[in-house]
Amino acid sequence: MDDNSAQQPARDKGLAGKLALVTGASRGIGAATAIELGRRGAHVILTARDDRKLEQVEDTIHAAGGTATIAPMDLAEPDSIARLATAIGGRWDALDILVINAAVFVPLTPVQDIDPRAFSRALTVNVAATQNLLAAFHPMLKRAEAGRVIGVTSSVGASPRAYWAAYASTKAAFDNLLLSYALENANTTAIRAAVVNPGGTRTEMRARAFPGEDPATVQPPENVATFMANMIGEPFPNGEIISVKDAR
Ligand code: NAP
Repeated sequence: MDDNSAQQPARDKGLAGKLALVTGASRGIGAATAIELGRRGAHVILTARDDRKLEQVEDTIHAAGGTATIAPMDLAEPDSIARLATAIGGRWDALDILVINAAVFVPLTPVQDIDPRAFSRALTVNVAATQNLLAAFHPMLKRAEAGRVIGVTSSVGASPRAYWAAYASTKAAFDNLLLSYALENANTTAIRAAVVNPGGTRTEMRARAFPGEDPATVQPPENVATFMANMIGEPFPNGEIISVKDAR
């Protein structure tokens, strides 16, 4: 047996032994959040398309003494979410934490020039998949003692910005889905849901949106991960958009 006592994770009362599903866990904010949840003692199911990167995140969690399972999938593929829910439901009874983080960016352009295919893909991954995830995992979240759902949004969802409409309108719809879900569950189940606005964060998506920016001038994804893990480990305000910047 390996002696990994020196690498025991800093277990967190609110997270130890919980089951968490993180979408977009192959890189960026999702990978950092999955690693942080794993470090604090949650078993983390990692999803995204890139299985090699998912394995690297899984290895990082294992190396820190945590546990994880990878589930490579494309959120845009019909039935992929239903298949994921069947696989997870076959192994676990309840899901404690769902982090809906995966999203795609759409290049900036005036509204009249939005590429319909790119827009349709973003509507599928950022919006339709969100409703599919909530539908597929609602029964398992309800069976948890206190199901927690966090959606990762962007400030442009609530504040329109010239040339950002394609991506921003998917985030507006995303916020509405999550916040409606929070209201529906407020007095009927133990599920709580909120939306986190990370603010500018050093990731591939950020580099695509701001190609001229020096990445060193924005926060690393680990900041957002710590914020979200702290939030999930405590009772958090239901149905609110919570900004990482405002909480500093
Ligand atoms: P990122 O580095 O581009 O990561 C996006 C993640 O989503 C990747 O793991 C990607 O994995 C996954 N993904 C994309 N399409 C997918 C699909 N069809 N099926 C399954 N997984 C898919 O972006 P990020 O910056 O970390 O963004 C994370 C969240 O934060 C997003 O919701 C984004 O809108 C939000 N956000 C970011 C910033 C920022 O400054 N970075 C600011 C505000 C909001 P694969 O490619 O392996 O599938």
